[in-house]
Amino acid sequence: MTDFNMKTDADGVATITWDTVGKSMNVMNQQGFEDLNALVDQALTDDAIKGVIITSGKAGSFAGGMDLNIIAKMKEAAGDNPAQGLMDGLSATHAILRKIERGGMDDKNKGGKPFVAALPGTALGIGLEIPLACHRIIAADNPKAKIGLPEIMVGIFPGMGGTARLTRKLGAMGASPFLLEGKLSDPKKAMQGGLIDEVVPADELLAKAKEYILSEPKFVKPWDEKGYKIPGGAPYHPAGFMTFVGASAMVNGKTQGAFPAAKALLSAVYEGALVPFDTALKIEARWFTNVLMNPSSAAMIRSLFINKEALEKGANRPDVPDQTVKKVGVMGAGMMGAGIALVSAMAGMEVVLIDQKQEAADKGKSYTSDYMDKGIKRGKATEEKKANILGQITATTDYAALEGADLIIEAVFEDPGVKAEVTKNVLAVVDKDCIFATNTSTLPITELAKASDNAENFIGIHFFSPVEKMMLVEIIKGQKTGPNAVAKALDYVRQIRKTPIVVNDARFFYCNRCIIPYINEGLRMVAEGVAPSLIDNAARQLGFPVGPLQLVDETSIDLGAKIARATKAAMGDAYPDAAVDEVIFWMEGENRLGRKTNAGFFDYDEKGKRRGYWDGIEAKYPRADEQPDLIEVQHRLMFAQVLEAVRALEENVLEDIREGDVGAILAWGFAPWSGGPFSWLDIIGTPYAAERCDQLAEAHGARFATPALLREMADKGQSFYARFAGEAQAA
Ligand code: NAD
Repeated sequence: MTDFNMKTDADGVATITWDTVGKSMNVMNQQGFEDLNALVDQALTDDAIKGVIITSGKAGSFAGGMDLNIIAKMKEAAGDNPAQGLMDGLSATHAILRKIERGGMDDKNKGGKPFVAALPGTALGIGLEIPLACHRIIAADNPKAKIGLPEIMVGIFPGMGGTARLTRKLGAMGASPFLLEGKLSDPKKAMQGGLIDEVVPADELLAKAKEYILSEPKFVKPWDEKGYKIPGGAPYHPAGFMTFVGASAMVNGKTQGAFPAAKALLSAVYEGALVPFDTALKIEARWFTNVLMNPSSAAMIRSLFINKEALEKGANRPDVPDQTVKKVGVMGAGMMGAGIALVSAMAGMEVVLIDQKQEAADKGKSYTSDYMDKGIKRGKATEEKKANILGQITATTDYAALEGADLIIEAVFEDPGVKAEVTKNVLAVVDKDCIFATNTSTLPITELAKASDNAENFIGIHFFSPVEKMMLVEIIKGQKTGPNAVAKALDYVRQIRKTPIVVNDARFFYCNRCIIPYINEGLRMVAEGVAPSLIDNAARQLGFPVGPLQLVDETSIDLGAKIARATKAAMGDAYPDAAVDEVIFWMEGENRLGRKTNAGFFDYDEKGKRRGYWDGIEAKYPRADEQPDLIEVQHRLMFAQVLEAVRALEENVLEDIREGDVGAILAWGFAPWSGGPFSWLDIIGTPYAAERCDQLAEAHGARFATPALLREMADKGQSFYARFAGEAQAA
């Protein structure tokens, strides 16, 4: 069986249908390219064929992209010269698409056959690069469809001709949101943006495509005509020149130079715009090879594409029957509870939202109402949809409404006494099979489970704020949590379309355990007299969305102080963070509580906009005469987090390094270019990591001491992915 087939009708119109075997959406693989190539050859040589429609056999979609394992295969194909393997593989795919684009015309653009892409819906990555090589792109009017080139989001760029073609079709400026930001659009917006040519009712899609072919169109691409000029001007033209000055600044401003793919993309666009199209394709292939040879790209693809998807598909789900949630009870309608109710209702569940007072429950429900209103304003939702979603949420104080719930998510105050009482009261009314989850951010699950007489069915489901935006959910197993509860939590996370990680119970679980040392390291540096701007900028240049000081301002100083007090009380003499507390308690005493009070490490204007660092910091902690260099600051911030991740693995809080990497990027924006903490350690190599830890421990204290596991791996020259995820160890 092959993924492509071709049929020709009585009018001489051939239809190549893409239908990847065994998948709900088409995905391009090695064999797929070969099959497509053979059919294109056949269509071009068969005199009975006048033109070709390329479409999909899947309802509602054209293609989801490429199976990125192709890249690994290309690398392997040339033995010890993987770059050559990539260049050869990419050139071969370019040749197939170029063949479609030339449609069999001669050098003078005479003869040939037109190709039309007929997209029933979603067309992403290679699923748009193939259409871009065709002579017309027609899409069905399917508002749910997403069309675009999202490659940049996983650390690569459109390297199958998409970059060269879109730049020529739209100009560098017009193409930039699609190439540089990976912007996705529904078919109508895609047409407005110039990505595709026409949107038609779904049942007319193939007829319109055929009509185009039979109209005997002139189909030579503008860039294959004499005298073609790139829209907006080539880089040496004054207008084009300005575009590139702006684009370079924008890319560097956004990525802080931390993401190799964005820079390489821009180089491919710039250099490609100076030369004829076929040379531009070669340049694109070279830059794409350059990116694919960068360990950062491989790590990003692995975490953000392959492993993220594996976790979403239940890689670590216990083998128990389907646990799809039908009715969820959300306890506490505050900030978190309101968001949890919203995402659950959006996923089609019946929701009971309970608070102490009816007003509080109603206020929680109104969060969904406001959210839907915003959607209606942006044309993403309708009044009818809003009414349906609101109809799924019952806001009440009455526990009896929980009857029949198969999952409870508790999000009341972070107080063990309050949580225990709520747990007992809920368990008195729900079925004994109902799974009880707590959204605590700091309290041990095993302790909270003591309020239940059925600890097997008790689990942590830790959301991040704001719930509707943050894509990670951390599932925490207490000591007695059973497989049904884990499966329930995972099935629930699948329903709300987020990415789960499953960890064992320990102080701060996994994510907060790593985030807190990141913040703390920043605060320690403040106390040492390191310039606040150096601290935050060092983090941003590592690709973190916000530096540690800005992060404390966002999450609030008093929350930090509260966590510090509770941790100190729990740890007693073993508490290691007195130096940090000094800074945080002082800020609290000064009533500089962060963004919410318009005063923290930053000054803010009355609209809440940051206005620079507060000069009180320097008055209290005078600027040290000698400032550390950038790398030293960056290594302190990185190692503070990654060593915590290694310890979490040593202590079996993490059971799977893939979860440690995916979780770090999605939960707190850990340097995405690195692929996550374990991938970063593999990129720098465990021997160097251990050596650096020794130096940092000597200079800054025992918190940087090399964990035993890292030491052992360094001695053996082992990588984390070789040891814990079965990858081949690099020589
Ligand atoms: P919140 O103060 O905004 O909301 C708590 C709600 O629980 C309030 O509406 C309160 O009236 C209600 N409540 C208190 N006692 C109750 C009872 N006995 N019965 C019913 N309702 C009761 O707090 P939040 O920020 O939504 O946090 C809730 C939980 O989620 C906490 O455990 C917190 O640690 C955790 N959490 C918070 C965040 C965050 O960023 N805010 C992130 C992850 C987890």
